[in-house]
Amino acid sequence: METILFLSPSEGALSKNALEALATAKQLADSLGTTFSVGLWGDAPQAAADGIASCSATKFLAVTGAEFAQSRYATDAAAAEALGRASGATIIIGPSCSRWNRVLAGVAHRLGGRADSHVTGLSASNGAPAIARWYYRQRMEGILTRTQRPWVLAVESGIAPAWDGAPGTAAVEPVACASAGVRSNVTGIEAPAADQQTIRPDAELLFVTGAGWTKKQPDGQVKTEAAQKLILDFLRLSRASLGSTKSLVDLHGEGVATLTFLNHMNQVGQTGSTPRHVKGLSTCCHGEEPHTVGWRFIGERRAISLDAGCGWARGKADVLYVADAFAVMEKVNALLAR
Ligand SMILES: Cc1cc2nc3c(=O)[nH]c(=O)nc-3n(C[C@H](O)[C@H](O)[C@H](O)COP(=O)(O)OP(=O)(O)OC[C@H]3O[C@@H](n4cnc5c(N)ncnc54)[C@H](O)[C@@H]3O)c2cc1C
Repeated sequence: METILFLSPSEGALSKNALEALATAKQLADSLGTTFSVGLWGDAPQAAADGIASCSATKFLAVTGAEFAQSRYATDAAAAEALGRASGATIIIGPSCSRWNRVLAGVAHRLGGRADSHVTGLSASNGAPAIARWYYRQRMEGILTRTQRPWVLAVESGIAPAWDGAPGTAAVEPVACASAGVRSNVTGIEAPAADQQTIRPDAELLFVTGAGWTKKQPDGQVKTEAAQKLILDFLRLSRASLGSTKSLVDLHGEGVATLTFLNHMNQVGQTGSTPRHVKGLSTCCHGEEPHTVGWRFIGERRAISLDAGCGWARGKADVLYVADAFAVMEKVNALLAR
């Protein structure tokens, strides 16, 4: 009989990605007709445990200590290993956050098990758990089973609704974890200001910019500065995540005046990313296959293009607005600002 452990570092309340992994663990336990427990580590994991107290876990295990608050391989791996051993779980499920992604292979090795990352689905068939993963740049989906245990997994964000339930008081069982020998300290975090951080995996909306923003417009003018302002205003007002076509990010390298806040990290498509958002809005983009293949996991797709015969019109979008994106986004921004 399988036993399941949901595992996560806790930095205050659990992240959306962690709550999605929790929902996935619970669903797998239900499908297998088994129970699941929760394992958390941090300087005060009780608060995170209380936030999910009603998730129907049979046990809440926690490694607690100031040294487990910071993201650090040695302490994260030691805590996860201790929780894995204490739970005796055969399947260990965590969120695809940077901390869990970094240590899961090491933790699986220490526990004598196997690890798989980028898991996009968990299911049970005839009492056997199976995972889904995408291969070959998200073109082929594979379903895998393994006989080795524990099976240590990192679940992608956006593949399941986040667990949502009433908080309470969880009866947390402390788990001892031998000092891992702290040799490095996080002395601070240098991150771009919130407004400069344009890639937001948790945003509901993906906003994609295409090369059309920098092209000569029907009145014969190039309006890159106006484009820049419209796009940044929209991102500020909507908190959407910014994606781009390859043509637009490539313009940087070609020395053409372009949108300064874009780089290859924003590129969506066959040679870019395959983000997961509830909705997507494409602007000034032609909707060619190498780009739209990156939209495979976007729930509802809309596009604004001047070209009524573009790829979006041929089954790639749910709604295509044949319109001038400059005019549409100006109006949208004005409405949002209200
Ligand atoms: C091997 C390979 C891999 C690739 N990988 C990727 C990838 O990962 N991602 C990717 O994006 N591409 C990729 N491409 C490139 C892809 O095929 C297209 O060339 C690219 O997506 C086109 O970008 P675009 O639509 O922004 O530009 P364009 O094709 O130049 O289209 C611009 C569009 O903007 C519209 N437009 C102009 N002004 C306005 C306006 N005012 N309002 C509304 N619409 C307007 C025009 O009508 C036009 O449809 C790849 C290509 C190859 C060969």
